[in-house]
Parts: sequence; C-alpha cells; structure tokens
Amino acid sequence: MSFTEALESAARAAAERVNINEGDYIGEDGLLHCASCHKNKQTKIVIGGKERVVYCICDCREAELAAEKAAEAERERRTRIAGLRSACFSERAMEKWSFENDNGCNPKLTAAMERYVENFGEYKSRGKGLLLCGSCGTGKTYAACEVANALIDRGVSVKVTNFSRVLNELQGTYDRQGYLDALNAHSLLVIDDLGVERGTDFAREQVFNVIDGRYRTGLPMIITTNLSLSEINKAPDAESRRIYDRILERCHPISVNGASHRRQRVRNEYEATRLRLGL
Ligand SMILES: [Zn+2]
Repeated sequence: MSFTEALESAARAAAERVNINEGDYIGEDGLLHCASCHKNKQTKIVIGGKERVVYCICDCREAELAAEKAAEAERERRTRIAGLRSACFSERAMEKWSFENDNGCNPKLTAAMERYVENFGEYKSRGKGLLLCGSCGTGKTYAACEVANALIDRGVSVKVTNFSRVLNELQGTYDRQGYLDALNAHSLLVIDDLGVERGTDFAREQVFNVIDGRYRTGLPMIITTNLSLSEINKAPDAESRRIYDRILERCHPISVNGASHRRQRVRNEYEATRLRLGL
C-alpha cells in the first residue's frame, strides 16, 4: 500500500467513525464543526499533492469511542470470569460460596482466607498453599471455595475438585498424564477430602501422582482433610508419609476447629420443628 493509499484508507476509516448530528455547523474555516464540543469534524490534508477535505473525530466522539471500547473490555472480562467459574467447580452450589455469603461462623478462618487471596501473587510465586485440617462440617470446603471464588473474580484460573472425583476420572481415562497436566494448568488447585489411609494401593499411587505432579509444577494447592494435623504428622506407613511430606512442605497447615456447622444446623431444625409441634 502506498503512502497516498494509506492516507485515503485512514480518511475513509475516520469518516466511518464520525457521527453527523443535528446542529453540527460549517465554521469560518469552511469545515464541519461539532455542535456540542465545537471541535472540527473535518480537516484539510494534502493527499497526492492535492488538498482534500476529510472527516476527523471531535472530542465528544473520541470520548464516546473510548467509552464503547471500555464497555467492550468489561463485557469480555465478565465473559472470561464466568468461563473461569464454570470451569472451576463441579458442583454449581459452590459458585455461591463466597466471602459475601459467609455466615460469619469462623471469622478468624475467613480473615486468614482473605489474607491468602490478597497476597496470592506472592504465595503463587513461592508455590505456597494451605492444608485445612479438622473434623467434618467445620467449613473447610466452604473456606477453600471462598478463596477460589475471590481469585476467580480477579481473573485467576482455579480448579476445585475432590480426591474421589480425581480417582474416578483417572480410572476412566487412558491419558492420565493429560488429565494431570490439565489440573496443573490452573494457577491454584483445590482438592477436597484427602484421606489416603482408607484407599486401595491404586488410590494411594494416584493420590501420590496428583500431589507429586502439583509439587513439581511449583504452583500452590489447597488441600482439605478430615484428618487431624497429628494424624498427618504420624503417617502410619511410608506411602502416606511420602504424600504428606510433600503436602506439608508446600501447604501451610491450619487446624479448623469449632462446632460442626452441619450438626448445629440439624440441631436448629430439630428445635424449630419441636416448637412447631408444640412438644
Ligand atoms: Zn464534539
């Protein structure tokens, strides 16, 4: 494309982006002006040795185009975040397990999760994750999902899954390495419900492969388990120890205590029903 052709094409492109509005007027320079900002909507340029009048963008049109571009970028961001969220969770309910919806039962744990999210960049570069230990129903999975949702809001790619799902999926695929690579493509991997003692040899071997694979990527993971920290520290056999050693090296252990939210809810329901029945 010659210089003249390039100018012609730029002039045509500008003309397409110019809006002619009611009240626009011809100024003293003989060119079209904007009714609101009074800037030129036309200008004179020399193309191929000849003076030509071409359209140009006035200030308000420029602001309008910038706003359209920003709105488009925002739409793209929202679409990307919706995609990240739907890829993250296998259970739709978890998409709502956020800091905003937290029931305030364990403020210390929630605050720790918020701080983890705030400093995720640093934790990610150090491959530092979390190990949430404690008995059933104390909100460990909820806490891990809060982290996941808040990071997704910031555009970070996260996968939340659990050990039994991972084992089923590994059992059902020939391409185990491909499956593990896909898990490890996420900046944060959350795996719920670690409990290797109960597993078969196959399960243990696969759990080791998942943990070791993640360990090698140097990226963080959050693991939840119903085992207590002392059970993890006293692994009954070499195979479990091999798994726990890697987890403890990379995941900061947090003992999540407190009354079971689930049991508390059941107790509340019993109480409400008892009152309704007039007992
Ligand atoms: Zn204008």
